[in-house]
Order: sequence, then structure tokens, then C-alpha cells
Amino acid sequence: MKDQYVYLMGRGLYVNLTNRCSNRCDFCVRNYDVDPAKKHGFAGYDLWLDHEPSAQEVIDRARAVLDAHPEVEEVVFCGYGEPTYRVEQLCAVADFAHERGLKTRLNTNGQGNAINGRDITDDIVSHIDEIGVSLNATDAKKYDAICHSEWGERGFDLMLAFAEECVKKGGNVSLSVVDIIGEEETAKARTIAEKIGAKLRVRKMIDG
Ligand code: SF4
Repeated sequence: MKDQYVYLMGRGLYVNLTNRCSNRCDFCVRNYDVDPAKKHGFAGYDLWLDHEPSAQEVIDRARAVLDAHPEVEEVVFCGYGEPTYRVEQLCAVADFAHERGLKTRLNTNGQGNAINGRDITDDIVSHIDEIGVSLNATDAKKYDAICHSEWGERGFDLMLAFAEECVKKGGNVSLSVVDIIGEEETAKARTIAEKIGAKLRVRKMIDG
């Protein structure tokens, strides 16, 4: 299907709002499909968008999928890009999800405040039940070496400040690392998460 901005995985309805991202992570699933013309997709889905959908387009398609799949429990903002580029549409779709009695989850690189040029943490905390922020590394240098943020090493501080602000505002925040970083780095990541009052989630190389 063209413009796969809504797709199913397990009991989650995944929403793909944008292909834009302020990072270029070495391990990003987009790297396995770097040529949009080939359109191999992820988990059987082609997640390269021809256009960024409006909130209404997402809601209309989500409604049809949810009507056919009553087993769905949550709406997850994820996809081939950083969802907070579309924070307004994200909030509108999250409102729809809550009206349907579903939980909402966000997977983010945590750079949404810089991306939007304003503090979006109120919007996020008030619309998202589980906020997953990709920590990926335990200091700014290591982070930049694998994530290549458009803000360079500052991307790490921007990400952590975002996560901390969400925690302070009562958000349910997890920092995540990918299991390939090893035990020592994972222990350091746990300390960082605890320091800001967040949980730590250790993800497999490719995870939802
Ligand atoms: S932040 Fe996520 S979408 Fe962006 S490059 Fe990294 S893994 Fe890919």
C-alpha cells in the first residue's frame, strides 16, 4: 500500500507521521532500506511516505483498521522518522486514540523541543501515556558518534533535558538503549535514567 502511515504490529496500531529525522543513527531501520525507490519496507510494510498525512487522514485510516481489529490496545507514534516534527497532528491523533479507549505511546529521539523551536513537553505529557526516549549512548561524544544529530554533540543534552522535563511534568518516561552497547554501558545508562527519574528499557537491535 502507498503511504503506509498506519500499520499493525501485535496489539499496537503504529502511526507513521513523517520520514524526517534530526538524527542519522547508524542502526536505524531506515538504513536497511536506504533507497526509497526499492521500497523493501519494515516488517512487511513500506514506510516511506509520498506525503505527510494530515491528522484527519491518519484518523480516518486508523478508525477503519481499529473497527476491523478490536484486539488493538495502544496507538504508537513511531515509524520511519521522528514523530515530534508533527506534534500538532500527533496530539490530534492521540486525542482520537483516547476517545477510543486506547493507550498512547511515543518513540522519540527527544529532540522535539529543538525541532519545533519551542518547549513541546506540555503537549507530549498531556497526550502520551508512555514516552520512550532513545538514549542510545551514555555521553554526548558517544551519542554523536552513532546518532549524528544535526545539533552534533548537543543532541545528547537536548534529548536528556527533554526527557527530564517530561518526568518533572509527571510523564511516564523510559530511556532506551539497544542491547549491542554491552553490559557496562547499559549499567551507566541505568544510572542516567535513575538520575532523572526515568525507567531504562533495553531494546533488541530491531524493536517496536
Ligand atoms: S532517531 Fe530513530 S528515526 Fe531517527 S535516525 Fe535514529 S533510529 Fe532512525
